[in-house]
Amino acid sequence: MKEKIAVCPGTFDPITNGHLDIIERAAKTFDVIFVSVLKNASKKPLFSLSERIQLIEEATKHLPNVRVESSEGLLVDYAKKKRATVVIRGLRAVTDFEYELQIAAMNRTLDAELETFFVMTNPKYSFLSSSMIREVASYNGDVANLVPKNVNEALLAKYKK
Ligand code: ADP
Repeated sequence: MKEKIAVCPGTFDPITNGHLDIIERAAKTFDVIFVSVLKNASKKPLFSLSERIQLIEEATKHLPNVRVESSEGLLVDYAKKKRATVVIRGLRAVTDFEYELQIAAMNRTLDAELETFFVMTNPKYSFLSSSMIREVASYNGDVANLVPKNVNEALLAKYKK
C-alpha cells in the first residue's frame, strides 16, 4: 500500500510543547512525517537552523516515523520532492485562522493535489508560541513546563548571564 507522507513546516524557533503535541498526534495518522524547518530569511531567529533542527531531532527521538530536515523555497515543491500529499498545520485560536487559510489557499492554487490538514491545539497550549517563549526566557522566566527539556536547557544556556 502507498505510504501516507505528510510535511509539517514551521520556523520552530524553538520547538514548543504545542508543536510537539501536533507532531505526535500527526505521527499516529501518517506513515512518515517530515518536519521541515524553514530558514526564514525575513526573521532573525534566536536559534540557528542547525540548532533548531537538532532541538527537534532530540525532542522527537521517541517518534520513529518523524524525520527532521531544513527546507527553503516553495513548500509545494518540497512536498512533491518528499512525495508528501498532506501539509499539517496547527491551529490555536481564531487569530491563526485567517493567516492559515491564506497559506492553504495559496498552496492549493500552486498544487491542487496537496491537501492541508489542520490539527486543533491541545487547549493546554492554546496560548503558547515560540515568540512568547523567547520573550519570557529572555527575562529568565520559567518555561520548563512549556517546552521539551532539551529546549529549556538550550534557552537557559542562551540567556545565561
Ligand atoms: P510559522 O513561523 O510558519 O508560523 P511556527 O514554527 O511558529 O511556524 O509554527 C508551525 C506550526 O505550528 C503552525 O501551523 C502553527 O500554527 C503551529 N503551532 C505553533 N504553536 C502551536 C501551539 N501552541 N499549538 C498548536 N499549534 C501550534
